[in-house]
Formats: sequence, C-alpha cells, structure tokens
Amino acid sequence: MSTPTTASAPVSVGLGMPHVPRVRRSREEIEAAAPVAGNKRVLLAAPRGYCAGVDRAVIAVEKALEVHGAPVYVRKEIVHNRHVVDSLSERGVVFVSELDEVPEGAVTVFSAHGVSPAVVADAAQRNLQTIDATCPLVTKVHREAVRFAKQDKQILLIGHEGHEEVEGTYGEAPEHTIVVNDVEEARTVQVEDPDNLIWLSQTTLSVDETLEIVSVLRERFPNLQDPPSDDICYATSNRQAAVKVISPEVDLMIVVGSANSSNSVRLKEVSLEYGAARAERVDFAHQVDESWFEGVATVGLTSGASVPEVLVQDVLALLADYGYADVDEVVTAEEDIMFSLPKELRAELKRIGDEDRNLGGRRRD
Ligand code: SF4
Repeated sequence: MSTPTTASAPVSVGLGMPHVPRVRRSREEIEAAAPVAGNKRVLLAAPRGYCAGVDRAVIAVEKALEVHGAPVYVRKEIVHNRHVVDSLSERGVVFVSELDEVPEGAVTVFSAHGVSPAVVADAAQRNLQTIDATCPLVTKVHREAVRFAKQDKQILLIGHEGHEEVEGTYGEAPEHTIVVNDVEEARTVQVEDPDNLIWLSQTTLSVDETLEIVSVLRERFPNLQDPPSDDICYATSNRQAAVKVISPEVDLMIVVGSANSSNSVRLKEVSLEYGAARAERVDFAHQVDESWFEGVATVGLTSGASVPEVLVQDVLALLADYGYADVDEVVTAEEDIMFSLPKELRAELKRIGDEDRNLGGRRRD
C-alpha cells in the first residue's frame, strides 16, 4: 500500500514536459467526497503502448542523430506523441510542417505515417538526404493503392481526411481514390462504376466502425472488393481488443496518448462503447484529475501505439498514491513483431560498424 498523497504534494510528471505542480485534493478528501464500494484496483491492458512501427521510427531518428549529428530534420511529427516529439526536439531534432522549411541538402526523416510520391519528389529536387521511417504496414497500403490504381479500379479509402497517413496513401493514386471518412459518407459517396471498386483503409481506425462503414458500402455496392489483407494493423487491433475485454469492468478508463494520435483517440471511444462508465485521455500523469476517482473502484489503463511505457508508469504511480495499488495486467495477446531500420540508415550504420543496425522492434521504455 502506498502513502496517501498530501494536499500539497506535487505529482509525478512525464519527462520532457515542463510542469508546474498544482495543489491536489488528497486521497482522503476524494474518498470522503464519494466513498468507494469494493476494493480499489487497476486493470492494466496488454498489449499497450509502443508498436513495432513507432519503435522503428523513433530509433531511426535517434540513429540519424548519432550518425549525422544535429540538426536532423523530420517532416511532421515522427509519431503522434507529445513526449516523444519534445524529447527529440531537446536533442537537436527540428520538426517541420513542409520540406521548404528544410535547408537544401539536409538530413531529413519522413515520419512513420508515410508520405506521398509528391513529397518524395520534392525532397529529391531539394537534394535532401532522406531517411524513410514510414511504417512497413503503411507502406503495404501504399503498394495496394498503386497496384489497384494500375488495374484501373476505383479505391474507396476509409480514413480521416487531413490525417498524414491518409494524405500519403491518397497521394499514391489521387485520380483513382475517394476518401470515405465515416458511415454518413459511405451512404452518400458517388462512384464511377459500382462494379469496379475496392476499399482500403487507414491503419489506425476503429475496427468496429470500419466494419460498419464497409457494410454500408457493400449494401450499396455489392461487388465491392476487399483488400488482400487487413489494413488496420495488428497493433491497433490488439490494443482495441484488450480495451474491449476490460472496459465492461471499469468505472474509469484512462488512455495515455496524444490528442492527434488516431489510435489513442479510438481507444477512448472503444472503451466507452464497450461499457466503461467514463473514459479520459491524457498525455501525462499530471493531467489526470483526482476528481475522476470519486466513487471509482476499478480503473482501466491503456496507452496508444505511440506512447512510451514510462508515461504509463507515471500514471500507475499516481494511481497508487490514490489507493489504486492493486494492479492486474490483463494480457489478451502477445506481440513479437520487429521491423529492421530504414535501408538508408542501415547502410550508414554498417559503414560505421554499429551493431544495433537491425534494431527497430518493440521496446517498452
Ligand atoms: S500503429 Fe500500426 S501502422 Fe502505425 S506505426 Fe504502429 S504498427 Fe505501424
């Protein structure tokens, strides 16, 4: 059992985030405000956090810094996580929105979400030394888009317009692709030939919502072709599956992940759909509001695929301070996928004799 937090105690803070501690209500004050029926406990979802694609992308940037020195430029956020981006910025990584912000010839990393061919061409024109950290599972969807466009099919790309991954995939075959954002758009989308359609998707969508969208599309276009394999990736599916199992039992679900992280936002939605009484998303432990604990016996905890485990451990420490020290990890799948580092980097690392050159799999901190 941990020591109760005093009213003026500062709370644990994720690395890389300047934070002024605020005065919190103590565990006793929270329990007096709303007594808890039953034992306090945490159901910790597994798998959670870093996926192989995110791990590979972050290591790629770290290795680029080691090999080339700062500054290393990254187009967009390397992964959608505040802590990761802030930590890398402190080490000399410069994140830019577009390539015209990068000096001619500079080392530039493409993020895990992928880029369109137009961005690759732009980089070549500017003589940038590029490292492509696009997740191989996103690249797989790009290849599908190219292949089906060559077959002159019309592609219905299910995904969120404006998301970097969707922009990249769309850019592979803009003439052949229509983005379908949601069920409403599935009901109204206009196609050229209903018998020459295939659907593809963003990798980080809600599995259930995507199935619903496909079912609406199929009702309208019975000959709609499925992708050769699932586009929603293993990490997204596994994290949602774990949340579905624990959500019916939790009074409060906390999802660690950033607001622009598609898969983190989906985890919060899935949790509410599957019975969590309340679900909240935070970037850092200090954003957890102690009033959420009023009357709460069981807290669920998970994290998006771009979240380092240290941020989850910070939340667990805070929960322990409020009496949720009994932690039960609910494991619904094992993951052992690893991706080798981007080829441009492997060649450089080989040249300098770096034995870590094939790293890039799952890492928990
Ligand atoms: S969430 Fe999936 S597609 Fe995205 S980086 Fe991770 S493994 Fe790759």
